[in-house]
Amino acid sequence: MKPAPFRYAAPRSIEELLALKAEHGDDAKFLAGGQSLIPTMNFRLAQPAVLLDLNTLPDQNFIVETSSGGVRIGALVRHSDIETSETIARSHPLAHEAIRFVAHPQIRNRGTLCGNLAHADPASEMPAVMLALGGRFHARSAASDRWIDASDFFLSIFTTALEENEMLCEVEMPPLPPGSGTCFLEVSRRPGDFAMMGVATVVSLDEAGRCAEARIAYCSAGETPLLAPGVAASLAGEEPDETALLNAARQAAEEIDPPGNVHLTSAYQKHLVAVLTGRALRTAFARANTSASQ
Ligand SMILES: Cc1cc2nc3c(=O)[nH]c(=O)nc-3n(C[C@H](O)[C@H](O)[C@H](O)COP(=O)(O)OP(=O)(O)OC[C@H]3O[C@@H](n4cnc5c(N)ncnc54)[C@H](O)[C@@H]3O)c2cc1C
Repeated sequence: MKPAPFRYAAPRSIEELLALKAEHGDDAKFLAGGQSLIPTMNFRLAQPAVLLDLNTLPDQNFIVETSSGGVRIGALVRHSDIETSETIARSHPLAHEAIRFVAHPQIRNRGTLCGNLAHADPASEMPAVMLALGGRFHARSAASDRWIDASDFFLSIFTTALEENEMLCEVEMPPLPPGSGTCFLEVSRRPGDFAMMGVATVVSLDEAGRCAEARIAYCSAGETPLLAPGVAASLAGEEPDETALLNAARQAAEEIDPPGNVHLTSAYQKHLVAVLTGRALRTAFARANTSASQ
């Protein structure tokens, strides 16, 4: 299939891009890696009158560490940039681990993190990662400039808190808490497919080796990435032994209620929630122990 006719603009600055977006509103779409937008246009599910190409913007391909130990990631950072970034591998191993589950190398070479997050597919890995990390999203339009917390960003299937004329300029991953460990796991039908169920975990240990904090987020579990605050609250203050992990896995399957889809039933997804939660927590706590002993 070929897309419906559209006009194409290659702005040279963010200001020019945002002015064009303000002029055309919903008739215009941002083009980042094109890995989701172009197939949708080819199927004529999207028929934007104007494509505003982000790829000609200067200075948007940055991964920089903040003074507090977080990282800011610009709008033109590709999945493959994250995969190969030593900064991300060191400071945010969760993102580094999860990005290799996103599609195939060819798609990761073009697709951008910001495009992926703005697209807001509930089966995507990185929205769950941003939720588990407690990340922030920098949105700009010609008339506004604001930050949105990950917990407020994903509203529904393919729907975010971005207003009609807002571009996602960058995202920020905050520093991991001291004594922390992370793990991302998923089950998919084939390598590179979207997750049938995925879990992103961040845990930290206190000086006595008890769980200080846990954040557990799921993809493919509902209309948005979902946190399991009940499981996190139960783990806080507990020694993360086998009993605690088995209880957490069981509780997660009660707390998360996936809808099922054409490929798998809700009951099977719940089974995956329990299995993946137990495994991811076990690995994350083991990694936290290792980081604490270094
Ligand atoms: C075969 C295949 C398998 C895939 N498997 C996976 C997978 O397993 N997991 C996964 O997560 N993804 C998967 N994807 C999707 C892929 O990760 C895309 O790269 C990603 O979803 C979109 O990023 P993009 O940069 O290509 O965005 P585009 O396709 O260019 O844009 C997507 C949407 O976001 C908007 N947009 C883009 N950038 C911005 C911005 N900065 N601000 C505001 N809006 C913006 C666009 O207007 C458009 O509506 C797959 C894609 C394919 C084709």
